[in-house]
Amino acid sequence: MVTVSSVKSKSKAPHRNDFPRPVDHVLLAGGLPCLDFVNTVHDRHATVVEDYLSDVPRYLAWSVRAGLLTNAERLELDQSPPPQRVLAEVRKLREQIFSLLCEIIDGVKASKISPDQLDIWIHRGWNDLEFDPAADDCVSWKPGALNTYLPLKRVALSTLAFMQNLEPERLKRCAAKGECGWLFYDYSKNNRRRWCAMRTCGAIAKMRRYRRRPNNQSKVKP
Ligand SMILES: [Zn+2]
Repeated sequence: MVTVSSVKSKSKAPHRNDFPRPVDHVLLAGGLPCLDFVNTVHDRHATVVEDYLSDVPRYLAWSVRAGLLTNAERLELDQSPPPQRVLAEVRKLREQIFSLLCEIIDGVKASKISPDQLDIWIHRGWNDLEFDPAADDCVSWKPGALNTYLPLKRVALSTLAFMQNLEPERLKRCAAKGECGWLFYDYSKNNRRRWCAMRTCGAIAKMRRYRRRPNNQSKVKP
């Protein structure tokens, strides 16, 4: 997701993780938890990457924001130290889901990658679910299922459900040239959405179109 400020000051931008944006300011533009998960890299193709999930507290806070944890679950998780490898697992799963979804967008029929990470987390998710006729979807999480990895299990199951039901032509990559690389599902009636968000990449594209008009060239030159 390219922002107006990143275009104006790209050449002297500091390392973004030195000044992490508040998790509450992170856009959820994908339309589904699995898409928001792969979009937790700001400007995916930038030279210097800003990872929204740069530490465990941010990963847990973002999970609450994305609906992958409840506040009560997060408070319980805060009581014990997280496993050391959780962020490595987050990144591995995130990159694999991103690659799989990109293959769908690009129309690659046979997957070039082995979706082992997704398979592992789907099975871990299934293993932690139990039949519950009182629940809305007739399953609930077992009492022992709550741990730091629970958001990854939910993301994996979200990805599976999404891939089983998606209309491929509605799964899209942001049309912004260059850095953004965010994915989203187009729920619009005419299926013509192009940007991850109108107020970021959409606004930048609009500004660039305006600058390219001959009558406006002189207004933007120093
Ligand atoms: Zn974008």
